[in-house]
Amino acid sequence: MRSDGSDPIREAARLLADRRNAVALTGAGISVESGIPSFRGAQGMWAKYDPMEYATIHSFMHSPRKVWEMLSEMVSVCGGAMPNAAHKGLAALEEMGVVRAVITQNVDGLHQAAGSRRVIEYHGNLDELICVYCWKRYPTLERWIPGAVPLCDCGEILKPNVVLFGEPIPWLAQEQAEEEARTCGVLVVVGTSAQVSPACDIPRIAKESGAAVVEINPEETSLSGNVIDIHLRGSASKVIGRLIERLKETDDVSPGH
Ligand SMILES: [Zn+2]
Repeated sequence: MRSDGSDPIREAARLLADRRNAVALTGAGISVESGIPSFRGAQGMWAKYDPMEYATIHSFMHSPRKVWEMLSEMVSVCGGAMPNAAHKGLAALEEMGVVRAVITQNVDGLHQAAGSRRVIEYHGNLDELICVYCWKRYPTLERWIPGAVPLCDCGEILKPNVVLFGEPIPWLAQEQAEEEARTCGVLVVVGTSAQVSPACDIPRIAKESGAAVVEINPEETSLSGNVIDIHLRGSASKVIGRLIERLKETDDVSPGH
């Protein structure tokens, strides 16, 4: 409840029920409850590993062993993680016909693990390794050995199929994400301040194309004052759970509607 008695959860649920074709844009915040630390902040990966030293394509090509120290930690943390109630909630909203796609900046694969079917991965996925020379791909667990640099059959080094700093966003993911942003009725931003380019364009494109933008974050972000119509404060799992409860109370939302 706001101080004026209005209920932002109710307003957001109303928007989602009326417009239906919602798209979610998610970031590290949604996976924190699955035990995956976000990159920024005191506990984040970037506090331990300077991204300019450990996460650029230049440093990877120059000293793969060093960058694989950081990547190995990501692979082992993400490999053991399970989707949480927020991931499952977005999958349930897709099932209910409310959310039609998830655009994610995460590389942990947890949206798919939770059952989301249409997932656009802006920054790739840790599930796969790709050869820097011949582009052959392998499932990560087939080649990854903790503490070593995984190698291709051709003898060259393997890189996770994720976007490092200095690399472009995969073309298709970028096209699809912008198309979703241009045509959605509601963009729901979850667990990200969408500061990193070009993900930061998505809320702006959605807004300029006439979508309402709902933000779910524990704190206000730089988005809040600008493109956001409704800010729902709280953890992703709690807020999405309450949204689903509200939506179920409105009788016009049912699977296949
Ligand atoms: Zn190769």
